[in-house]
Amino acid sequence: MLKKLFQSLRSPKRRTQQLRSTPEVLNSSQHSLQRAQFSRYAVNIVERLQNAGYQAYLVGGCVRDMLLNITPKDFDVATSATPEQVRAEFRNARIIGRRFKLVHIHFGREIIEVATFRANHPQNDEEEDSNQSSRNESGRILRDNVYGTLEEDAQRRDFTINALYYDPVSERILDYANGVHDIRNRLLRLIGDPQQRYQEDPVRMLRAVRFAAKLNFGIEKHTAAPIRELAPMLREIPSARLFEEVLKLFLSGNASDTFEMLVDLELFDPLFPASAEALEHNPTYTHTLISEALRNTDLRIKQGKPVTPAFLFAALLWPALPARVMYLQDRGMPAIPAMQEAAHELISEQCQRIAIPKRFTMPIREIWDMQERLPRRSGKRADMLLDNPRFRAGYDFLLLRESAGEETNGLGQWWTDYQDANDSGRRDMIRDLSNAKEDGTGPAPRKRRRTSGAKRKRSAAADE
Ligand code: ATP
Ligand code: MG
Repeated sequence: MLKKLFQSLRSPKRRTQQLRSTPEVLNSSQHSLQRAQFSRYAVNIVERLQNAGYQAYLVGGCVRDMLLNITPKDFDVATSATPEQVRAEFRNARIIGRRFKLVHIHFGREIIEVATFRANHPQNDEEEDSNQSSRNESGRILRDNVYGTLEEDAQRRDFTINALYYDPVSERILDYANGVHDIRNRLLRLIGDPQQRYQEDPVRMLRAVRFAAKLNFGIEKHTAAPIRELAPMLREIPSARLFEEVLKLFLSGNASDTFEMLVDLELFDPLFPASAEALEHNPTYTHTLISEALRNTDLRIKQGKPVTPAFLFAALLWPALPARVMYLQDRGMPAIPAMQEAAHELISEQCQRIAIPKRFTMPIREIWDMQERLPRRSGKRADMLLDNPRFRAGYDFLLLRESAGEETNGLGQWWTDYQDANDSGRRDMIRDLSNAKEDGTGPAPRKRRRTSGAKRKRSAAADE
């Protein structure tokens, strides 16, 4: 699969995809799109803007996905009208964003995003005040807030297949970058010089992987070539933006292929440095655990089931934990505090790269803590764990660890059986545990005081 992805299919000789000065125009008999397939609200916006004398098109992901018979996530409009001019045309329009303004037009729960044509900043910025420069020393674009013409708007887009403009009124497609040709050949190709385009915005490397996995496209060879060398540039990207991008990468329904590609293109390391190290030192276990977790995630998404980013991050980081726990234990720290300290350090380090919000870091810790508790089942502990709101995630995580080859002495099966058993069956299972303990093979039964629920939880936590 990977080989196929990186093959350059019928790749033209030219190194960079330059834009045409006039677009190739495909009329309705030359493409498969039909106006009626698009959101009627989006089509209506384009019509109204055109009637008011502006240029307006459907653009980006929705045109690309429709040509590939994929249902688009959303519908974006690009126009020559400024945000203020757009707002003046629509009652239900709101300007969003301060640095670069966009307009959101609301129709019930559907929101259509309308963006004014934008231009790239010139490569050699000649702005007088260097503090005002739109690029940093490595060429990264810091500001991207200049309005432009339609042609300039096409030029600043990332991939040729994302730079197609569809006019639902004339039912014509405008193609400045041979995007239709690349869609037919299932190839992802950056517009312009790939090295420069990645330097301008290193996140485009992640976008290349995301679209290749989502669309099952190959990455054209000149587009793929600079990635390994430039991958470390991702370290410069603000951690909040990377969090958003990583969620898109792993919650797209193609996380498992995405992971393989990230590793192959050396993009995984700058995103998850500790996990990449674990992948190097303990490749089979780490690879199996992460891919299993991602395969489950993909499956759940395909079945329309909810997925939680916390479980995903818990799995991505887990293989990096043991080395840290061992390090602390070697320095004399007891097992449980070592585990907690290691978890804390690992998560805070990771958050410097990818800003995982607190609402997810807390449950990651809880899923991991649960791994310490699940083996301790004697007395009333098993029932208390079943009542814990994090039980299900913790149990699923245990099964995941087992599927990656971790030896747990049948713990996952025990919990599966315990959940299925009735009251007397459960009592027997706990009794068997204490018998096993007397044989020296299980935990000892403990006398417990009767306590309130909350107190019970606290004392259970303190026990362990
Ligand atoms: P998706 O189906 O994931 O929404 P999309 O192509 O619509 O795919 P968006 O992130 O919504 O992706 O971006 C919309 C359009 O904006 C893209 O199709 C592309 O033309 C342009 N774009 C987005 N991000 C970048 C970027 N980093 N550099 C250049 N162009 C970009
Ligand atoms: Mg989109």
